[in-house]
Amino acid sequence: MNSESSESLRDGSPITITEEGLNVPDRPIIPFIRGDGIGVDITPVMLKVVDAAVDRAYAGKRKIEWLKVWAGDEAIAKFHGDKTKDEIKAIPPGERQKLYLPEETIQAIRKYLVAIKGPLTTPVGGGIRSLNVTLRKVLDLYACVRPVHHIGTPAPVKRPQDLNIVFFRENTEDVYAGIEWRAGTPEADKVINWLEQEMGVTTFRFTKMCGVGVKPISEEGSKRLIRAAIDYAIKNSRKSVTLAHKGNIMKFTEGAFRDWGYEVGKEYPQVITEEELNEAYSSNVPTDKIVLKDRIADQFFQQMLLRPREYDVVATMNLNGDYMSDAAAAQVGGLGVAPGANINYKTGCAVFEATHGTAPKHAGKNKVNPGSIILSAVEMLKYMGWNEAAELILAGIKRAIESKRVTYDLERQMDGATLLSCSAFGEEITNNL
Ligand code: NAD
Repeated sequence: MNSESSESLRDGSPITITEEGLNVPDRPIIPFIRGDGIGVDITPVMLKVVDAAVDRAYAGKRKIEWLKVWAGDEAIAKFHGDKTKDEIKAIPPGERQKLYLPEETIQAIRKYLVAIKGPLTTPVGGGIRSLNVTLRKVLDLYACVRPVHHIGTPAPVKRPQDLNIVFFRENTEDVYAGIEWRAGTPEADKVINWLEQEMGVTTFRFTKMCGVGVKPISEEGSKRLIRAAIDYAIKNSRKSVTLAHKGNIMKFTEGAFRDWGYEVGKEYPQVITEEELNEAYSSNVPTDKIVLKDRIADQFFQQMLLRPREYDVVATMNLNGDYMSDAAAAQVGGLGVAPGANINYKTGCAVFEATHGTAPKHAGKNKVNPGSIILSAVEMLKYMGWNEAAELILAGIKRAIESKRVTYDLERQMDGATLLSCSAFGEEITNNL
């Protein structure tokens, strides 16, 4: 067993899911992956802040039983510390991948449903897939959920507080499916030849030395993501869901996503389109309705800057979602502290994660900002329905930033700020709960 002994878990029980939703016991067992690089700094701080907030919010009635599970460099050090780097590199990629991401870790997350992780290095040495991508794939975590709002960090726009968007980014399809062939290879040439000879394609500009990629967008993949976005909007009293797409150019992929989105909207009595809003409600959104609208991707980028208050929940495909959520996070000055979650709403399985990488040059220096993983924990608590603890932490972070007692990344952007270490910033948040 690669997790801590069941002895330490005697008081905990798993989170489960039924037709009605998640069933969260008062002592849920939650697996966590410490993460590589700065994971060693930020993850213990997050655990402490969460424990303090849960204790404060529920006066000891509720408590998370953390279950340490192993992945990345930590898994290698723990279970294969006797092997040299060269011995590890010599292991065939498929087998080596399992050393970095042990089956027991995947099984623990599958069993306990809700987990949180620090960043993981993609191991060098060829043939190994990103551990993050692998986790999302094997657990079919199809919705990447990224809430973006201003928490007081220095921002490049005049009114960062006007942006409050939750992105639902499809996590399994699009050009990220990895179906592509390098220019000049027999495979790329074969695909081009097939497209020209058999599929009647006449629009290749240059067929020699031309890389080719495939963009799969399916009805099932799109609809389950859009349904998750609408369900979220209903549950969280949001006013609109925007389908962001480039369907004017990519008609049968991004355009189909938009069309399937409107089909999903028809399943919900609460959902009205912009047209219906104008015709039947004179443009005033009734309190019990949610407006489903769509925007072309480039227009959406402009409007996010110019009229951010018009956007609320956004459902989009993998590539758009990647750019848009990062651009939104930068707009509110929160790129380094943005939270993230990867969720399968059907199985209930959800992995919350810091959205930055392992920043190896800062690792072990107790220096970096633990905000991203702490805000991811806030989202995890909300997902569990422990909103009181989530709100306490969010308020604690906002107050810590307001008092300008922050880590180096924020300190250097704020006049008169006090520089705190990673752990001291965690204590500052706890003191402000
Ligand atoms: P990175 O996010 O690790 O670091 C880029 C820079 O951002 C750092 O040098 C640092 O200056 C800053 N930074 C990052 N996190 C910070 C924090 N918490 N506080 C303050 N400053 C912070 O990106 P990278 O250098 O491109 O990637 C390094 C490794 O991380 C790679 O192996 C990559 O594969 C991996 N990675 C993992 C994830 C993940 O686990 N989800 C995501 C991105 C990258």
